[in-house]
Amino acid sequence: MFRTIGIWMALVVVAAGCASVDSETRRGKRVLRTGQQTRALDAFGDDLDHAVEIADGVFQARAIGNSHLIVTPAGNVVVDTGLPNESKRQKQLLEAADAGAVKYVILTHPHMDHIGGTDRWKADGAEVIAHREFPVTQRYLKDAAPFFLRRNRVFYPESVPDVDRMLTRMAVEMLYPTFEPTLLIDEPYSFELGGERFEVIPTPGAEGTDAISLWLPERKILFTGDTLGPLFPMFPNLYTIRGEKIRFPLPYVETLDKMIALEPEMLVPSHFEPIRGAEQIQTDLRKIRDAVMYVHDATVEGMNDGKDVYTLMREIRLPPELDLSEGHGKVSWSVRAIWEGYAGWFHFSSTTELYDVPITEVAPDLVELAGGADALAKRARTHIEAGRPLHALHLTDLALEAEPGDDAALRGRLDALTILLERSGDENHSEVMWLQHEIAATEKALGR
Ligand SMILES: [Zn+2]
Repeated sequence: MFRTIGIWMALVVVAAGCASVDSETRRGKRVLRTGQQTRALDAFGDDLDHAVEIADGVFQARAIGNSHLIVTPAGNVVVDTGLPNESKRQKQLLEAADAGAVKYVILTHPHMDHIGGTDRWKADGAEVIAHREFPVTQRYLKDAAPFFLRRNRVFYPESVPDVDRMLTRMAVEMLYPTFEPTLLIDEPYSFELGGERFEVIPTPGAEGTDAISLWLPERKILFTGDTLGPLFPMFPNLYTIRGEKIRFPLPYVETLDKMIALEPEMLVPSHFEPIRGAEQIQTDLRKIRDAVMYVHDATVEGMNDGKDVYTLMREIRLPPELDLSEGHGKVSWSVRAIWEGYAGWFHFSSTTELYDVPITEVAPDLVELAGGADALAKRARTHIEAGRPLHALHLTDLALEAEPGDDAALRGRLDALTILLERSGDENHSEVMWLQHEIAATEKALGR
């Protein structure tokens, strides 16, 4: 049970994936097969009975969320502590690699797959360093836990408990233990240990404002947590549809510029294996930065030109030279995240946006005037046949709002969703899981 809980927590926070695990080229673009990458994360490191020495004196205890140990003659440094239920084993593996006292623990960000073993290390007297916003993020994720868990279940149905049945405040306490760092930073913080220099750098952006990275200048190794995501290189997830605050592109571009200037020879994200090779890392970091800047500038330009968010979602595409995996973050969703991150939810499109009566309230009127739900379903069918599944979905949504059991409208919805799933190319995990969830619900309503 606890193992299961651990798995879903990890999946929830990383929205799994890894380019190196299983990728293929389709239409000239790197495509990730969601099911396989998710399974790969679930089992990552399970076959190992030791921590892997990824650089001289740098050990990685592999699991859903990796934990790292950097060995010095004067004591050791830990980077991320894994999931609560995996952290005990990870600590044992790291201590078997080197039993020296741990002086510092770096928590790259407050997601549970990075911090679950913190108290085990803290008990040994280590200084625990995190971003100044770490406690605030922990608090809001915990305060809204029932809301987030209900949504997370859509994306990780096998591993997220059924919150409506299981979730009590006691369960929240168990699922979201609170960890207290001993040192919070929002400026670069350096220390020396055993003759080695360690630089903790705030790296806000793609997974939130509360991220830090650890830089080893002599070795040119950068521990990035989730700042670059579980894939490398990928377009960032500026808005995750499971929910969480929108992430802003410009701080992320600043973070990428910082990383580029460091000229790392090795990146160590907290999921999957390290990435090596200064030249390729430079190329990929620049590509990510340029892609984010491109989408940002195109969105702002469109806003200035008076274009609405839907037009921009449709129009803005990465140019071929900046093409990146959208297995984790989608460009069109990021366009919307930038628009709404800057301007909020009022789109100036209708006065009704300002008030509490949505379009669905007049669905019964529309359905009645059309001559029943079947009439809308019939028109939806013409859209489906013309390759316009979203036009069809609007009509079936209205029809089903008025007549929830209408067979023709349900069948129209199912066919429209199926087209969208096919068009997704199985690339973006969240999109695929959402569509599958909606398809299953529609099939259930049809009695299939
Ligand atoms: Zn993570």
